[in-house]
Amino acid sequence: MSASPSPEPGWFRWFSHQVIRLGPMRATAALTVIVWLLAMAISQGVISVTGHGNRAIATLSSSLCSLVLTPLIGSLVLRLVFELERTRQQLAVQAMNDDLTGIFNRRHFMLLVEHEWARCRRYDTGGALLLIDADHFKRINDTHGHLAGDALLREMAATTARSLRQPDLLARFGGEELIVFLPHTDPLGALDVAERIREQVALLQLPWQGQTVGTTVSVGVAPLGPAHVNLEALVHDADMALYQAKAAGRNCVRSAPIQPWRSGEQSTVPSR
Ligand code: GH3
Ligand code: MG
Ligand code: MG
Repeated sequence: MSASPSPEPGWFRWFSHQVIRLGPMRATAALTVIVWLLAMAISQGVISVTGHGNRAIATLSSSLCSLVLTPLIGSLVLRLVFELERTRQQLAVQAMNDDLTGIFNRRHFMLLVEHEWARCRRYDTGGALLLIDADHFKRINDTHGHLAGDALLREMAATTARSLRQPDLLARFGGEELIVFLPHTDPLGALDVAERIREQVALLQLPWQGQTVGTTVSVGVAPLGPAHVNLEALVHDADMALYQAKAAGRNCVRSAPIQPWRSGEQSTVPSR
């Protein structure tokens, strides 16, 4: 994934993570102990080197300073660091995810897939793109209201996510459309996943104000081929296949033709 370099120095990122991990209270306690030990070591060390000074008074004054001042100033600074890091993490999540469904948004998906797609092409491990579009979704909104539509979209995304493996990438492509990239997957495997998603979504029955609301999806599958010189070409093929699924009556899966990598012949997988 291409990420812009962080403007913060590395030590600050590490420090912020430790503060988040411990929480501001425990981080302040840890800092106080560290400062106290350092103050003791320095004051005793100075007396040893110079041969002057009273060890008891040095211990008392360095303990008083570190045990009173560090919690006071440290808790303030660490609370600020804690809030800053927490906000930064929340913003990072918001920048990646879709607000309604919680899955990746389109922009982040494209960043991740650019990387995966290039790997699949380079190592010739196969891959496929799925476009999933809810059928007649306008009717759901018109019949049950927009909030029911929103809840159903959330369920549709969650159901799709449950049908995928860990390395698969899922995002909201826009409106009532989801997009999936299946790395290291052959065309038949991709059809299988698409069919499983279609089946699982069709089983959804969302309770809503005394009624149940459900939907079906149409899925367009595009197996990665040599003609897909960029990601847009792959999305285009999945979109064409989705169009065929809609034209075939919806609630079904259609695949774009498989492009062979080595032979010059075109082969196709029968549409389901
Ligand atoms: P088709 O089977 O041809 O895809 O029909 P459709 O009604 O699903 O397609 P159309 O493009 O005509 O309408 C899409 C509908 O999806 C209309 C729009 O209000 C709804 N929709 C898009 N985004 C959201 C959303 O975030 N929440 C809700 N509730 N509805 C949405
Ligand atoms: Mg649509
Ligand atoms: Mg639709």
